[in-house]
Amino acid sequence: MMAKEIPYKIYLDESEMPTAWYNLRADMKNKPAPLLNPATGQPCTAADLAPVFCEELVKQELDDTTPYFEIPQEIRDFYKMYRPSPLVRAYCLEKKLGTPAKIYYKFEGNNTSGSHKLNSAIAQAYYAKQQGLKGVTTETGAGQWGTALSMACSYFDLDCKVFMVKVSYEQKPFRREVMRTYGASVTPSPSMETAVGRKILEEHPGTTGSLGCAISEAVEKATTSEGYRYVLGSVLNQVLLHQSVIGLETKAALDKYGIKADIIIGCAGGGSNLGGLIAPFMGEKLRGEADYRIIAVEPASCPSLTRGKYAYDFCDTGKVCPLAKMYTLGCDFIPAPNHAGGLRYHGMSSTLSQLYADGLMEATSVTQTKVFEAAEYFARVEGILPAPESSHAIRVAIDEALKCKETGEEKTIVFGLTGTGYFDMVAYEKYNDGKMSDYIPTDEELAESFKKLPQGF
Ligand SMILES: *Cc1c(COP(=O)(O)O)cnc(C)c1O
Repeated sequence: MMAKEIPYKIYLDESEMPTAWYNLRADMKNKPAPLLNPATGQPCTAADLAPVFCEELVKQELDDTTPYFEIPQEIRDFYKMYRPSPLVRAYCLEKKLGTPAKIYYKFEGNNTSGSHKLNSAIAQAYYAKQQGLKGVTTETGAGQWGTALSMACSYFDLDCKVFMVKVSYEQKPFRREVMRTYGASVTPSPSMETAVGRKILEEHPGTTGSLGCAISEAVEKATTSEGYRYVLGSVLNQVLLHQSVIGLETKAALDKYGIKADIIIGCAGGGSNLGGLIAPFMGEKLRGEADYRIIAVEPASCPSLTRGKYAYDFCDTGKVCPLAKMYTLGCDFIPAPNHAGGLRYHGMSSTLSQLYADGLMEATSVTQTKVFEAAEYFARVEGILPAPESSHAIRVAIDEALKCKETGEEKTIVFGLTGTGYFDMVAYEKYNDGKMSDYIPTDEELAESFKKLPQGF
């Protein structure tokens, strides 16, 4: 039988789009460690989390056994505005590299927020609306999550308060304006609006902020404002659940053409796109139905999986959030100021952390100059200007394809292209001017940070 010719872009029909999210935890023998209440040291209950998160999202967060959650029709309808996203056969990249490998990427940048984050933002806004809330608060670093959430909130007519890491607020004014265009209010963090912000400013005057600090402010704002809850764009189980739409579509597209992936690669910040992309494939692996090499790629300047400790840690600098067991660099860890490639969160999703601890996936780190080199190479051959975050995955996909060139192996490589980089041109400029450098934290610096991990959990 002749193999079906693979098109440049594999699209699913609307009727082939997933109708349920897949909860990978249901198939894990070793479940991710539970969130702990910092006050009691006991696993968080739904009642503990209810003041912070929306009810339905708390249920999703704590459910380790239900394999599928139906996607509500309104969310499916919203998804249809920008999904299914294409699975692209990177014919041009393969040719340019001269590799026998077959390379595919799942492109999540075809929406105004420019990344996969909208997949979870719309779900979280939907459940907030269902609960009758007035609005939600959140933090954003580079601004993709804040942008996605402001789009989702405007769709459901919810108020959206975003605490944006100060350095990004100042250096990325365009993202800030996109958020405001969608009706969000954006506050540079740390701010004087919250007790935790004032405390951090007092202790570290002139600080340019961090994600961990912005999270603390957003949580405080939500829990002290009537009718508000906090939402988070990564790390949490519920976010990985919503992002499983990426992997489910990828798997359906591959299956449509009888393609079997050998290697699946994704960049890893808090772990949501990777967790979503690999979900159905990891499910097969956990059930013993198929095997894949799965590779998480992180920045050498923020190497939580490859150099972090697997321990309970705070999710935020202000220590107002529950404790999560994860690979972490310590909740005060802030990547070097010259780090421009995103993925700067100090920890990693507890689901991915457990899978990594169990040897079910690999992790590797790459320096930012190598990442931008791959980004430009990719932009020139495939046309898409990639986000720096996504380019971590591109780097390793290219490296794996080059290995195939040496060995002559025709491996099938699938990677997640999480977004576009139009708002990251200051970083590209640095690279183009030859002014980008690499900073890798020393073992001593990491050891200092590990000393401050919470003890006794
Ligand atoms: C936020 C973001 C990431 C990293 O977040 P994860 O939760 O690890 O997926 C990667 N790529 C893009 C484009 C992003 O906006």
